[in-house]
Amino acid sequence: MGIGDGVVVGHAKILDNGSDGDRWNLTILSEGYQDAELAQFHLHALELVSALNATTPFAGLLSAINVHRVDIASTNSGADDPTTCGGTGATADTFLDATFCGGGVRRDLLVVDSNLAVSTAFAQVINTHAIIVLVNSPVYGGSGTSGTGVGVAVCSLHPDAFDIALHELGHSAFGLADEYDCVAGAQTLYSGPEPVEPNITIEGSLAANKWRHLVDPSTAMPTMSNEDCDCSGLPSPVPAGTVGAFEGAAYCHCGLYRGEFGCKMRNLKQPFCAVCDDTINAVLFPFFP
Ligand SMILES: [Zn+2]
Repeated sequence: MGIGDGVVVGHAKILDNGSDGDRWNLTILSEGYQDAELAQFHLHALELVSALNATTPFAGLLSAINVHRVDIASTNSGADDPTTCGGTGATADTFLDATFCGGGVRRDLLVVDSNLAVSTAFAQVINTHAIIVLVNSPVYGGSGTSGTGVGVAVCSLHPDAFDIALHELGHSAFGLADEYDCVAGAQTLYSGPEPVEPNITIEGSLAANKWRHLVDPSTAMPTMSNEDCDCSGLPSPVPAGTVGAFEGAAYCHCGLYRGEFGCKMRNLKQPFCAVCDDTINAVLFPFFP
C-alpha cells in the first residue's frame, strides 16, 4: 500500500500564464493509472482545464492560473472499493492509496493519502497553491480537505467528475462550506456561533449579513425562511441569481443561511453563487498579470 505501489514519472505545465512565482498554481496528480494509462491521464487533465475554463468565475480568472500535471504510475489500476459501503470489493495497489468509502460510511467519499499527495505535489511544483487528484475509476466519488497548508481535492472519472472536482476545490482551495442541508444525518436547527466559512452565516438581516455588499437593497432579508425546519423542498421566492439570505445550509435545515437559492456548493449542476464567486475572485486577484 502507498509509496511502494507506484513511481513519479515526471511533470509538465499544461496551462502556462507566466512564472510560477507570480501565478496561482493548480497541480493535478494522477492516481490509479498504470504506466501504460498515463496518456489517458494527460487527456483527462486537459479536459479538467477545459472544464475550469467553462466555469464561472474561473473562466474570467484563468490568466491568474498555471496548471501543472504530475504523472504518477501506480502498480494497479483504479481504487479500493470496500463492500462495507456497498462497493465491489475491488482492491488496487496505488501510490496514493485511493479508496471509496472513506471513514466507512459513504461509498462516494473517495479519499487518498493527502499528506503524500501534498509532499508529492510540492516535490514537483514548489509553488503549488491547490491540488486535484484524478482517480482512474468510473465510480461516482470525491472529497475535499483543506487541512493545514494546501488543500487536496479528489475526484474520479464519473461523468460528473469535473463538477465534483470544482465543488471539492471550493472546499480545499477557497475554504467554502457545503450549502446543502438535506442529507442523511443532517441536523435540523443550527445553534452554534457564526461560521468561519465565507458562504454561510447565521445572520439573515441585511445589516449584519457578511455578504451584504452583494445584496440589492430591494431584496427581502431573509429572502427565504424554512419555518418548518425540514426538507420540504420549498421553491425559490425570487428569480434565479438573486443574492439574499436563503435558510438551509451546511447540513442544517434552519438557523444557517446561504447567499443564493442555487450554488455548486449545494448542487453540482449549478454554477457557483455570487458569494462563492466573490470569495474565489478575492483569492485569485493577487495573481493577476
Ligand atoms: Zn455558494
